[in-house]
Amino acid sequence: NHHKLIQSEKLNTVGHLAASIAHEIRNPLTSLKGFLQLADSEEQIVKRYIPIMRSEIERIELIASELLTLANPVPLEFNKANIITIIEEVILLVEIEAGNKEVTIHKNFDHKQIFIKLVESQLKQVLLNLIKNAMESINGKGDITLEVKCTETKVYLHVHDNGTGMSKSVINEIFEPFFTTKPNGTGLGLMITKKIVENHEGVISVKSIEGEGTTFTIELPLILKL
Ligand code: ADP
Ligand code: MG
Repeated sequence: NHHKLIQSEKLNTVGHLAASIAHEIRNPLTSLKGFLQLADSEEQIVKRYIPIMRSEIERIELIASELLTLANPVPLEFNKANIITIIEEVILLVEIEAGNKEVTIHKNFDHKQIFIKLVESQLKQVLLNLIKNAMESINGKGDITLEVKCTETKVYLHVHDNGTGMSKSVINEIFEPFFTTKPNGTGLGLMITKKIVENHEGVISVKSIEGEGTTFTIELPLILKL
């Protein structure tokens, strides 16, 4: 009976997700269809709509590519790897954008080598999502700190920012698919991040104060620290 209950809860989640995906993709499709209808009857005004059509198509592309991260088209390959190396590589990827925005990224690691079982591309995706959100929460100058602390059995990765922070009601929604407070956000980043962390037998949590900043914490099982 318990098993059945879990099964139907799962179905419900999938059904809920499918419904929101359908909804999010149908909106830009509907507007594209409208423009094409217009193009049929009034050829000379078509050109004006091309930029809007392009951005609607790009939105569908972005949603599809973000969702693909979840779909696991190939079986995931977990390998033992040093999470510090992976963090350093992701910092290189975001440093230029951070510099342009006057955001400084700080590092605070309690070990040089921390080995865990991970899928490299997915862990990088998690870090990118969290750092990008942190950058987007900062208006003007700001700081992001990546902190790693270990116990005997766990790794704690904190991504701290001194950006806008979140209200209680926003915090309650952030892991929901398509929840976004940004004009061009997809609202998929944190849902995907949570899913990946759970695939790694980890836990994600958040602490945030409006007007002060936000800290996301990821807890993962540790294999070895040096
Ligand atoms: P998106 O970035 O496309 O909006 P996410 O799933 O990555 O989607 O984030 C969902 C929402 O959570 C954001 O729109 C924002 O309101 C909030 N959020 C996430 N990270 C932060 C952060 N570091 N600081 C403030 N708000 C955040
Ligand atoms: Mg995001």
